[in-house]
Amino acid sequence: MQRVYNFSPGPSMLPYEVLERAQKELFSYGGSGMSVMEMSHRSKLYEDIVKNAEASLRALMGIPDGYRVLFLQGGATMQFAQAAMNLGTGSGKADYIDSGNFASGAIKEAGKFVKMHVVASSKEAGYRRIPAWDAADFDAEADFFHITTNNTVYGTRYTQLPETGSVPLVADMSSNILAEVYDVGKFGLIYAGAQKNAGIAGVTVVIVRDDLIGKADPGKMPRMFDYKELAETGSLLNTPCTYGIYMSMLVFEHLKKLGGVAAMEKINREKAKLLYAALDDSAYFTPYAEPAHRSLMNVTFHAPTPEGDAAFVKYCQAKGIVNIKGYRTVGGMRASMYNAMPVEGVEALVRCVKEFEAKEQKHV
Ligand SMILES: *Cc1c(COP(=O)(O)O)cnc(C)c1O
Repeated sequence: MQRVYNFSPGPSMLPYEVLERAQKELFSYGGSGMSVMEMSHRSKLYEDIVKNAEASLRALMGIPDGYRVLFLQGGATMQFAQAAMNLGTGSGKADYIDSGNFASGAIKEAGKFVKMHVVASSKEAGYRRIPAWDAADFDAEADFFHITTNNTVYGTRYTQLPETGSVPLVADMSSNILAEVYDVGKFGLIYAGAQKNAGIAGVTVVIVRDDLIGKADPGKMPRMFDYKELAETGSLLNTPCTYGIYMSMLVFEHLKKLGGVAAMEKINREKAKLLYAALDDSAYFTPYAEPAHRSLMNVTFHAPTPEGDAAFVKYCQAKGIVNIKGYRTVGGMRASMYNAMPVEGVEALVRCVKEFEAKEQKHV
């Protein structure tokens, strides 16, 4: 069987060992004679899957007591609204940093529920960097302060978190959760669609501090949106994405075996260094993001022309390197190298970068 190096921005590659274990357990999980997909979400066997997934995630991220872990549906996109609906109930004001496509999406959705204050934006700079902020612009009365730790489309990441004092920091961590070490204690709320680094599409990981739960009016808030109801029922208010949570459990257990997030971050840094070094060395390709804020996960770059971009994408495809076409607003290429992308995949891409450049130089 031929597997490709899949640089998709998400859903993305899964570790081979995870797929293999899912295959082994497909017809009968834990001696039950049934697939996890066929199992009641109220069964003991399934409840243990949710518990194990949570325990592994807690261990991996060092999630302190006083935080709840939820496995929800609706994607990170639903959290754009849900976070604001749950947290924006005090002063009704919120601070946001606009660092890219998903950050601006979060701003639009949350703006329907809170009085929106955009503290800083790098839109004018083509989102090539994380915007500079001035802490004097932060609103001390805001109910929360929202950032997007890794900007999937433009390929940037925060290297420093804003100091928001007593205002809870909320992070959309969809594209770099479990890829870099974070001190969860610095955040009030973290959310992430699972399909990049934490499993498959259909599950949304939410990590929320206890004191931020129960702030919504239960008479007005639909139960499925209320963190309180979801937390009290242990993510089992209704039928969750049962198989997706199982896949998250497998991904978490696999990452634990590899040595955890710190070990993974080291590998991710090596992978990113390999590709950025090749692009910096290249006279043909140009990296998109400013060096100080380059993402470890999503590497964006361009050939000199759109025709060059298309030819390179095609060249890579023929070598088993797929899904590197950039997002439409950025063009060029985007190589997404989440945890499951092996170093060998990045080395193969680097070889393509060098070969393609040599081939093009011969033409001129
Ligand atoms: C992929 C992504 C999203 C969208 O996630 P869905 O689960 O599809 O809603 C939001 N934010 C970031 C940073 C992303 O990378």
